[in-house]
Amino acid sequence: MTRMTLVRGDITEQHVDAIVNAANSSLMGGGGVDGAIHRKGGPEILAECRALRAAKLGKGLKTGAAVATTAGRLPARWVVHTVGPVYSHTDDRSALLASCYREALRVADDLGATSAAFPAISAGIYGWPMDDAARIAVETVHATPSALEEVRFVLFEARAYVAFEQAVAAL
Ligand code: ADP
Repeated sequence: MTRMTLVRGDITEQHVDAIVNAANSSLMGGGGVDGAIHRKGGPEILAECRALRAAKLGKGLKTGAAVATTAGRLPARWVVHTVGPVYSHTDDRSALLASCYREALRVADDLGATSAAFPAISAGIYGWPMDDAARIAVETVHATPSALEEVRFVLFEARAYVAFEQAVAAL
């Protein structure tokens, strides 16, 4: 069974097999987690993202999908890039956010990863309310079978940590 753990900290410092990136569909980098991963991981990650775009992701990575690259200089083997939905007040995009966790887990599992670190996807620049983002993250990982031994949620801010703690307690 997969163990879910919570850590307050920086995802780029996690020693895990797979670090999940809250990317955007261009895969060309951005702010938040994405910016930190490319800054610390070095140019090798961006080079692989470019190669993926050229080879099979001409229009970019779809929202809710996931793809892996090297982790460059990060203390991990792979970065699994996934594109969260932008939060909408009028349109329920929860299924797409759940898909990010499911697809990133599937990609990590297929690679043979035994541990993965996830950020609070969509809960930063993409505006998803933290409590709801945490509930979707925790419920989806809990409901998704995989061979991973550990799924670690790495939360940057105190309120994110509390939201994830409450979501785990509510399972
Ligand atoms: P999105 O565009 O999907 O909303 P962001 O990267 O803007 O993604 O933010 C997602 C969450 O990750 C936010 O809660 C943000 O505070 C947090 N975050 C930002 N940098 C890091 C980091 N280095 N490690 C872990 N979490 C981070």
